[in-house]
Amino acid sequence: MKKLNCNSEIVRLKANFLGPKAENADWLESEVNKLFSHWCQWRRNRFPQDRSTIDALDKNLTDFKDLQEKMSLYLSELNSRFEAETPTYSPRYMGHMVSELSLPAILGHLTGLIFNPNNTSKSVAKIGLEIEREAIEALSSMVGFGLDGRGHFTSGGTVANIEALWRARYRLDNFLSLGAFLNDQQSTSWNLFYAAHMGQTQFLHLSQGLELEKLKKYSFVLQGSYSAADIISNHFKEKFLGPVLLVPGHKHYSWQKALSLLGLGEESLWSIKVNDSGHLSVKDLDTKIQKAINSQRPILAIVSVSGTTELGMVDPIHEVQELLEEYKKKGIYIWHHVDGAYGGTYCSMIQGQGELFRELNPYVQKSLRAIAQVESITLDPHKLALVPYSCGAILVRDESCYPISSFKAPYLKENQTFSGKWDSTLEGSRASTGACATWMVAKSLGLNKEGLGTVLSLGLEAKHQLEGILSHHEMIQIVPHTDTNILCFTVAQKKEALSVSNKRTRQLYEKIYLENSFSVSQTILHFDSYGKFAENFAKSFQAKIDSEGIYLIRMVFMNPFTISQVGENHYLEQFSNYLQKLILDLED
Ligand SMILES: *Cc1c(COP(=O)(O)O)cnc(C)c1O
Repeated sequence: MKKLNCNSEIVRLKANFLGPKAENADWLESEVNKLFSHWCQWRRNRFPQDRSTIDALDKNLTDFKDLQEKMSLYLSELNSRFEAETPTYSPRYMGHMVSELSLPAILGHLTGLIFNPNNTSKSVAKIGLEIEREAIEALSSMVGFGLDGRGHFTSGGTVANIEALWRARYRLDNFLSLGAFLNDQQSTSWNLFYAAHMGQTQFLHLSQGLELEKLKKYSFVLQGSYSAADIISNHFKEKFLGPVLLVPGHKHYSWQKALSLLGLGEESLWSIKVNDSGHLSVKDLDTKIQKAINSQRPILAIVSVSGTTELGMVDPIHEVQELLEEYKKKGIYIWHHVDGAYGGTYCSMIQGQGELFRELNPYVQKSLRAIAQVESITLDPHKLALVPYSCGAILVRDESCYPISSFKAPYLKENQTFSGKWDSTLEGSRASTGACATWMVAKSLGLNKEGLGTVLSLGLEAKHQLEGILSHHEMIQIVPHTDTNILCFTVAQKKEALSVSNKRTRQLYEKIYLENSFSVSQTILHFDSYGKFAENFAKSFQAKIDSEGIYLIRMVFMNPFTISQVGENHYLEQFSNYLQKLILDLED
């Protein structure tokens, strides 16, 4: 690890945040004042011929003053009520995936907020859409898609995940419709699975000179899945049971939502096993692909997770990609999506130059580098990029992965000059706040090692240090070898029943929650989702397995000031002492 004191990166980082004691308040207040005066000046100058409509007389009337007083009063109320809100800015907060906000992000967000463009359409977001395009370019180069990448901001990772499936389904539907058409009209004998996975090049080649209109009657997206079952079954002489989604056991719950919204049965979610190192098992993935081929179930997409919600694990995206390359050689093209809502932002640690406080391990680096080859990725700047809510993004590798089956709204004409993104986004009206915040972070701090990467490396270092401190405690059993900045532990005696240690750990969590001097979160490592990995962990403290899972206290290290503190107030030491005291109390 690099030394933390007074090097230039730390000094730079200190300027990037308000600080736990609002140390940078002067600067922030002056920038916010500038922002609002500029906004007011804009109004004064925008239409010089217009007269003003509020004058000194108005301002003296009782009704006028009454309302102002009320606004002022309720603003005070709103603010004082928020004093009881969870202080997520503090290094004492190590609970969920939220932390100190970045100053450029707050200022960018505020700018987007008051100018209020609606990124649905160019006619109300001339500049908003420009900023969005530039911010997407920055994210695209961070993940390795470069200039070919396409995408847009969403309200979060859930929507971005749904958008990815929406696109994957559209492409699969194109391929399958063409196969059905060819079997029907040209007496070919395409196999259902192979048709559904023919790939873009083959599709373009075979559909050359064809009116795509003709494919419509074979499309399950257009005809709906009820009719499609018959149409497709007829033309492939094969019962069509619909596509499946292959997602690892440690997935986020948004995937069930996505499938249900796309009208696919819950049965169509095929869970890929988690291996004994806590990652998607490529071997099991291969087995599931074979099973899909044998049962003629097209694969809507394969999902790898970059940064799981529970443990921050990064799946072997490079190995999945290698496997998919093998299938491509057999003419089978499968959409690979990376759910990088949490960990996609770690790509900033593999871009640019500079020395980090702690590097990602080589396996994770390799995995992140392979993102450049996948079809699509979900990002959530409102998590690790320290941007305010709501800010997610869906990115695809290139133009060919971007289209969705669009429907035309007559009042939003398709004219290039006025059109925006409305015909390719799931959401209609879209704020530009997330784009503006991300743009500011990308421009000022930078989405690379020198910038955001440094912040993230401090989180890795904090987790590493606490892991070292807690490992001396006999009863604290830490989930080993996690990939990023999440630390989970349970409090167990050796050879104890899980039901006993789970209960103790839950009590501990409740105590921490009620006392409120540090914040942590909780989760359960289920044996059915985490398989061997969870079993091995239980074995490591010889637990008697009598429960469905292992109850864990979970800590997420995102705050840049957790370890850049000097002297007495070392949060990690304090937390460790506090924990020991609580555990002793519980044992009494
Ligand atoms: C947070 C998260 C999501 C969902 O993102 P939201 O912004 O909460 O909608 C999806 N996948 C993973 C892995 C996540 O961590």
